[in-house]
Amino acid sequence: MDLSLIIPVYNEQDNLPLLFEAVYKTMNSLPQSWEAILVDDGSRDNSLSLLREYAQKDPGRVRVISFRRNFGQTAAIAAGLDYALGGTIILLDADLQNDPADIPMLLDKLNEGYDLVSGWRKSRKDNVLTRNFPSMVANWLISRVTGVHLHDYGCTLKAYRRDVLEGFRLYGEMHRFIPVYASSVGAKITEMPVNHHPRRFGKAKYGLERTAKVVLDLFTVKFLVSYSSKPIYLFGGAGGMLMIISTIMMIYLFVRRFVSLIGVTGSPLFQVSVMLFILGFQSMLMGLIAELLVRTYHESQRKPTYTVRTMINLEQDPRD
Ligand code: UDP
Ligand code: MG
Repeated sequence: MDLSLIIPVYNEQDNLPLLFEAVYKTMNSLPQSWEAILVDDGSRDNSLSLLREYAQKDPGRVRVISFRRNFGQTAAIAAGLDYALGGTIILLDADLQNDPADIPMLLDKLNEGYDLVSGWRKSRKDNVLTRNFPSMVANWLISRVTGVHLHDYGCTLKAYRRDVLEGFRLYGEMHRFIPVYASSVGAKITEMPVNHHPRRFGKAKYGLERTAKVVLDLFTVKFLVSYSSKPIYLFGGAGGMLMIISTIMMIYLFVRRFVSLIGVTGSPLFQVSVMLFILGFQSMLMGLIAELLVRTYHESQRKPTYTVRTMINLEQDPRD
């Protein structure tokens, strides 16, 4: 299998016929073999029975996973990834806001030697106030914090080489952070403007609250990517800083005691200093606990602390 399309579906009954038409039109023009994995995320409309029909008509290519209830787009994508057989993975929305006709272009780009090609909705057709503007801010923030420079993390339409996704688990709203993770394991990433259409049928499932979740997820991702194998650097660093600040305050208080005979313990600075010292010490200890957790994490799952691109004259996995 060459290509796997993964398409999350939540109450999209009116979009599905057009989606299949567009997907077939594009995919049949490509030489590669392909499959489409549609993940029904607990739809309450007719989506599942439509998907059943399409799967029956084309059992070799149309595969369907149906959730018991709505678990969210990220979970739907995660399920699709678990079952995808293709060496190249393409994520796509079911509502036709993404254009399947862009897929060949993304694949060509991938073949130029990239591991991930991200779609960029350069002229986005969503609500400006609740979606476009917040997402602009979020994209800017993600770029700054993670150092992975893309314009549009939220665009679902992206093409991935399968091996850069290996071992990455998706939680919360995290599918948009796949590029960040991929970059942390050394993937070559680029982006391309893609078409974007207004939603014709059904309702958008998200509003402003999503941006808040994305920002919280950003903390997690940044922490996992930068410190997950050495948490003591973060906790210990912060703790050490606090302890240094506290010590400077203390020295100041004692010096002042001898110069102007103002008591040390009477000043609020004294209390602040003691508090900072305790906080700093606690933070260091927390770092040590985190170090223990990291060891458990890597060793219980036999996860290496590195990623390999190729090996020459070596077995693939030394532990098997
Ligand atoms: N979706 C999903 N589960 C959800 C919400 C959305 O599977 O809980 C799917 C939805 O059917 C669509 C895609 O995720 O295919 C993107 O959703 P939507 O169009 O509402 O998001 P937007 O394009 O506004 O970001
Ligand atoms: Mg949409």
